[in-house]
Amino acid sequence: MTQLLTRPAPVPSDRYQAYTSHNYRDIPQVRRLSEAQRRAIDVVSQVLPFKTNNYVIDQLIDWDAVPTDPMFVLNFPQEGMLRPADFARMAALIDSGAPRDAVRAAADEIRLSLNPHPAGQMEHNVPELDGVRLSGLQHKYPETVLFFPSNGQTCHAYCTFCFRWPQFVGMDGLQFAMREVSLLVAYLRRHPEVTNVLFTGGDPMVMRTDRLAAYVDAILEARIPHLTTIRFGTKSLGYWPYRFMGEDGEQLLALFRRIRAAGLHVAVMAHFNHPRELSTPAVREAIERIRETGAQVRTQSPVMRNINDDPAAWRDMWREQVRLGAIPYYMFVARDTGAKHYFEVPLVRAWEIFHQAYQQVSGLARTVRGPSMSCEPGKVAVLGPATVRGERVLTLMLLQGRNPDWVTRPFFAAYDEQATWMDELRPAFGETRFFFEPDPQAEDAALDE
Ligand SMILES: *Cc1c(COP(=O)(O)O)cnc(C)c1O
Ligand code: SF4
Repeated sequence: MTQLLTRPAPVPSDRYQAYTSHNYRDIPQVRRLSEAQRRAIDVVSQVLPFKTNNYVIDQLIDWDAVPTDPMFVLNFPQEGMLRPADFARMAALIDSGAPRDAVRAAADEIRLSLNPHPAGQMEHNVPELDGVRLSGLQHKYPETVLFFPSNGQTCHAYCTFCFRWPQFVGMDGLQFAMREVSLLVAYLRRHPEVTNVLFTGGDPMVMRTDRLAAYVDAILEARIPHLTTIRFGTKSLGYWPYRFMGEDGEQLLALFRRIRAAGLHVAVMAHFNHPRELSTPAVREAIERIRETGAQVRTQSPVMRNINDDPAAWRDMWREQVRLGAIPYYMFVARDTGAKHYFEVPLVRAWEIFHQAYQQVSGLARTVRGPSMSCEPGKVAVLGPATVRGERVLTLMLLQGRNPDWVTRPFFAAYDEQATWMDELRPAFGETRFFFEPDPQAEDAALDE
């Protein structure tokens, strides 16, 4: 308890120091890496985004455990994150002193082969208003609109597994962004089914509070009667808890209070990948400050090899979150993009990790759901293996669906111990499709008519 009561002095946010491929060799601890490790960072960071900061370096990474330390793997590119042929190709270009254009062209080619926009989010979920595509919004599930404020499309550090990686490397034409909140407000007015706006990114908390407030206050001023909740998806508690301290932090907390005063719920959807992120005095102070505004903190993370593929890590995270007053919310399966091969955990193993961790926490932490895949039909949770009349199956269920009627209906895939994603699963019992997939025969019949 004393940890919570003795509050550290707020650290002004101007002490934030970012490190990228250009200056990471200045980090004193990096001198402990071998030259081969530093070269691997140089090569991989040509393709995948790399950014870390002084809080992660000094307070989260255990430098005695490098290179396998999970916090190190979470931020620092590793050789295995590129396929061997891609790594060799980039390394050869760099070693031969190839011109920048050639390096960039090769990097773009490799990126395009890494499924930069999984789950069809580019095609399916961008809404329209009077025929105009609102490219800074996503509306997949009726009750929630995702909003990508244009100056919130970066983060305090980059996760090496991130499925939003294309927007950090400036892949042309593939960035989500919307400058105008007025379009968002008009869209919300037109859609009474929407109860939640979820600010996301990148990390909307990288924005200065006055910029974020310009968006939020416009929504509050519009007094949209069906809106109950404003959510902020953020990794700032993990990567820069000082965001909630100092002058700008106080203004952010005041913004949360304004939302509450307008009668809306504030949910901070916090991204924590490892229990160590909950261990510093700064993060504990930040959670406490958020909760004092009446806002709630809910937590989520993917399960990933080399980072947290261990029931003890999840048990400790969920227990610690409950102790700090945060609500465990989702365990995700790492998405099928970027360095997926490096992080992937078979679905059966992900379920085992969930199963073993869940049984060691009280009901207060069993608010968590998963392991869940965010794929084209919706969020598909793995409920676990079962045997039905002698056939091994995997039981699945949609937690969210493009069609809400699909949600909570158990369905079955043929048991597959290796499958790491939905597209590798086949329906059980010799069926030809999952219940939410279109029936090709019915479509043919419709065409014949
Ligand atoms: C996960 C997700 C949401 C939010 O879903 P909740 O279950 O309400 O947290 C909204 N939109 C998209 C596209 C999502 O993937
Ligand atoms: S903080 Fe979130 S958006 Fe940013 S790199 Fe990590 S996972 Fe991606």
